[in-house]
Amino acid sequence: MSKTSVDVTSLGERGKRVAIIGAGPGGILAGLALHRAGFQVKVFERHPELQPLGGAIILNATGIVILRSLGVRIDDVFAAGLPEFRRYDGRVRVNFDIDMKLMEQAGVTGWQSGMMRSELYERLLEAAPADMISTSHSFERYEENSDEVVVYFDNGQSYSADLVVGADGVMSKVREQLWGPSELKHLGIAVWLGWCELQGPDRKKIVLHHDHQVQMGYAPLRYKGRDCFEWWFVEKCAADQVEPSDPARYVREHIQHFAYPVPQILEATDTKHNLFRWVVKYRKPLKQWSKGRVTIMGDAAHPTSPYAAYGAGMAIEDGFFLAKYLAGSNLADILTLENGLRRYDDQRVDYTNQTTAFARFLGRMYHGVPAPLNRLRDLFLDHSSLPAKMIRKGVTEEAQALLRAVLEPADN
Ligand SMILES: Cc1cc2nc3c(=O)[nH]c(=O)nc-3n(C[C@H](O)[C@H](O)[C@H](O)COP(=O)(O)OP(=O)(O)OC[C@H]3O[C@@H](n4cnc5c(N)ncnc54)[C@H](O)[C@@H]3O)c2cc1C
Repeated sequence: MSKTSVDVTSLGERGKRVAIIGAGPGGILAGLALHRAGFQVKVFERHPELQPLGGAIILNATGIVILRSLGVRIDDVFAAGLPEFRRYDGRVRVNFDIDMKLMEQAGVTGWQSGMMRSELYERLLEAAPADMISTSHSFERYEENSDEVVVYFDNGQSYSADLVVGADGVMSKVREQLWGPSELKHLGIAVWLGWCELQGPDRKKIVLHHDHQVQMGYAPLRYKGRDCFEWWFVEKCAADQVEPSDPARYVREHIQHFAYPVPQILEATDTKHNLFRWVVKYRKPLKQWSKGRVTIMGDAAHPTSPYAAYGAGMAIEDGFFLAKYLAGSNLADILTLENGLRRYDDQRVDYTNQTTAFARFLGRMYHGVPAPLNRLRDLFLDHSSLPAKMIRKGVTEEAQALLRAVLEPADN
């Protein structure tokens, strides 16, 4: 690295320098993809250590294809299945309309895959170039001019780059500087995430069960080489609602009438260590992510409700498309850079806004309807073909079109 002024360090050769803020799954994936595309990338993380943290997540086939394409060793840490909605007693309401030929082409046996965020993170770190990530750098602000952008950190360090990518999560400071403050809103939903080791239940299905009040879903999970299941329990939740003192008992009381294997999955869970509660928050979606020499991605751009179950997957897709549309560009040239970022925005902004809006819609439909109307809604869900059509339009068609775009050879 060469010094461009007394205290600003250049991240490398002009036209190729990218500073990514935040070493979550999104930031590391973007770093990998941009590095492969020939850029000189540095990912800055505020924490002093990179710790593989987090519980179960779901990735769809697109995420798996992208990870493999970047050389991330992923095949032994996920279990794939085909999603369906069922009533609490096991009656199937909606089978997701999945193109199995496309799955074959993608090299996965199911549309969605259960894995641990911690294992995904370990594998991303393993694939990352040794000096790509700098820890103990908490981003404070940037200053931009037509030639470059300088990022400032709380440890007194500052670096110049051609592009800054904010991958700094739900509380993103990059987003705040770029697009101004926005309220983190309470969606009115809480989700409990758990996992267990269990033999017996069908490992080819991802099932989302609903009764009049709550959702209980489960998916096959591969963890530390063992066959496990991840599960999630979703309920209505007021902003000031106090967490129950005995979470396991609380969840059990709500799901004991659900069909096999729901009660068994809960019983097999070490609820002292493997059960976490999240209150779901979101921000008003943005119509544009990129401006000048700065853009955002992942949770910084689209904090997501668990109904999409897809925060990590969308962050991975963002990183892939960002690198795809910048590959071969001279980032020093502002017009070239803006053109690449426009293509990135065109690809991602509407898609993620629709996905998160549909997730919020489903969340409200299942958990926001006033109690007397619950049963009417459920009659509709049991007897109408509209929910299947809505899932096809709201989820599977667009998501599978995106997978086709990822499988296409690069056209840059
Ligand atoms: C610790 C943790 C555990 C999680 N566990 C689960 C889970 O069990 N299940 C699930 O579905 N989802 C979980 N998530 C959410 C899920 O990982 C995200 O939705 C998804 O990975 C999006 O990734 P991201 O990289 O955009 O953001 P994140 O994963 O949030 O990563 C953002 C990164 O930016 C860093 N950062 C933030 N501010 C700054 C700053 N000012 N300067 C430098 N760095 C900064 C953060 O420390 C973090 O490493 C978890 C997230 C975290 C952070």
